[in-house]
Amino acid sequence: MSYLSDLWDDILSLLFPRLCYACGNHLMRNEKVICTDCYVLIPRTNYHLENDNEVARLFWGRCRIERAAAFSFYNRDSRIRKLIHNLKYKGIKEIGPELGRIYGYSLIKSEFLSGIDIIVPVPLHLSKIRIRGFNQSELICDGLSEATGLPVDKESLRRITVTATQTRKSRYERWVNVEGIFNIAESSRLEGKHVLLVDDVITTGSTLESCVNELMKIEGVKVSVAALAVAAN
Ligand SMILES: [Zn+2]
Repeated sequence: MSYLSDLWDDILSLLFPRLCYACGNHLMRNEKVICTDCYVLIPRTNYHLENDNEVARLFWGRCRIERAAAFSFYNRDSRIRKLIHNLKYKGIKEIGPELGRIYGYSLIKSEFLSGIDIIVPVPLHLSKIRIRGFNQSELICDGLSEATGLPVDKESLRRITVTATQTRKSRYERWVNVEGIFNIAESSRLEGKHVLLVDDVITTGSTLESCVNELMKIEGVKVSVAALAVAAN
């Protein structure tokens, strides 16, 4: 039977080839979403292994966080950029949980998650979810949760304002642009908890900063942040 089902898989993959969403090469039977080459070649930051890292420094003097990390460096030609682009703009949702799982399995081998109680995705505004159909950060959190066993809270933090695109704004304009755009819909699930706040890409950190400031209004909350990628300078 297994021979027949393998054969059937091979026929299907000839008819409908499964391709790596980072490089476009054919995937082998045991590969999912990205090929082994891309898996190996994604440039990891390993920031979860050092408390004093570039992402943590981004928040110095801006808001209080416990720890900060990002899975990979994000630059113009990077594989992670291609993956995140395929996830967000081409709607290939399976990329989110898969990258979340990959990152989660490397985080659990370190001290980075110690004391963390719950994962919270950076919320999108409802109007954006209606257009895109999903929140990519939630999908990443699903994979992180599967790998780490930590629960995800997608309800407590809410985005209440639609923001204009951030890309052509100065750092100050970006900060003004995201101030006060989140609120807490329900605080009881997060009281006294150490929250891991998760985003897809960190550029200036202003969106995360705005979320952290909102979360810190909840009694006894501590916040750490993690993202799939950080813009490389
Ligand atoms: Zn590949």
